Amino acid sequence: PAMPKTIPLAIFPDGRTVPALGVGTWKMGENAAKATDEIRSLRAGIDLGMTLIDTAEMYGSGGSERIVGEAISGRREKVFLVSKVLPSNASYEGTIAACERSLERMGTDHLDLYLLHWPGHHALEETFAAFEKLKADGKILGWGVSNFDTEGMQVVANTPAGENCATNQVLYNLDDRGVEFDLMPWMASRAMPLMAYCPLGEGRLLNDPVLNRIAADLDATAAQVALAFLLSRENVIAIPKTASPARIAENRAAADLVLPEDVRAELDRAFPAPDTKTPLSIV
Ligand code: NDP
Repeated sequence: PAMPKTIPLAIFPDGRTVPALGVGTWKMGENAAKATDEIRSLRAGIDLGMTLIDTAEMYGSGGSERIVGEAISGRREKVFLVSKVLPSNASYEGTIAACERSLERMGTDHLDLYLLHWPGHHALEETFAAFEKLKADGKILGWGVSNFDTEGMQVVANTPAGENCATNQVLYNLDDRGVEFDLMPWMASRAMPLMAYCPLGEGRLLNDPVLNRIAADLDATAAQVALAFLLSRENVIAIPKTASPARIAENRAAADLVLPEDVRAELDRAFPAPDTKTPLSIV
């Protein structure tokens, strides 16, 4: 592709927008020898417009957030920063304390989005009250959940403050399209973007021979086709992780790849959409 296109935007229910191609950071900050590449690749991503960075207090027990902090130092205002509270910390006081630790590790005074990492034992009402308090104090600009299936989202919607839930981050890739059956339409009806994690199936999807053949026909890579498929969906945000600056550029170029109708049909045959309810996949 000659000229890079701008990355399509996703829209949150409150009207905020963000590039629909961001980056993940799971497994970063675990190995000091990799830190330079991790920071370099996150910075390259920001420069290429992949300004949404997804992290969590869980990743590398804070190590991922520390890497993110180094990467965004001096360019915080360009970044849409997402982190997550562990369910075991998600009491009212625990959520507030966890958020403050995350802010400290990343050297910033606010998160753009704060998610409950998965459903746990603390009452959602408490977690959401803490999210609202953090929002009122300017420490987060919005909040959401992760790993909630449709039934769980109904519960979220019926919990006090639940109407302010901005997103649900779930496993979604070509090889695992279960969310298309009911969760994605449910979220779309509430104008919530879906954050797709493991968009490359943790890298395993990239070994698929059909995907590689389709990619070769398009002069693209398997990763680019997998990401272009997600970006072709309305209000889906993909957050591929790579610690390689070269792969960051490769992944960014997925936003320039248009999948022709016949290719989309071919992908649907090789990786069929669900025709029945399947439980949400998680890692
Ligand atoms: P991904 O599907 O993003 O795959 C990441 C793997 O693919 C890495 O091994 C990476 O290796 C490799 N890779 C990336 N780009 C390419 C490329 N162009 N060509 C070949 N290989 C490539 O898996 P993740 O599990 O990391 O998911 C993405 C993000 O989603 C996470 O990092 C995290 O932020 C979030 N997440 C959230 C979860 C939740 O419960 N909410 C659960 C899981 C993930 P390398 O780094 O060497 O390039």
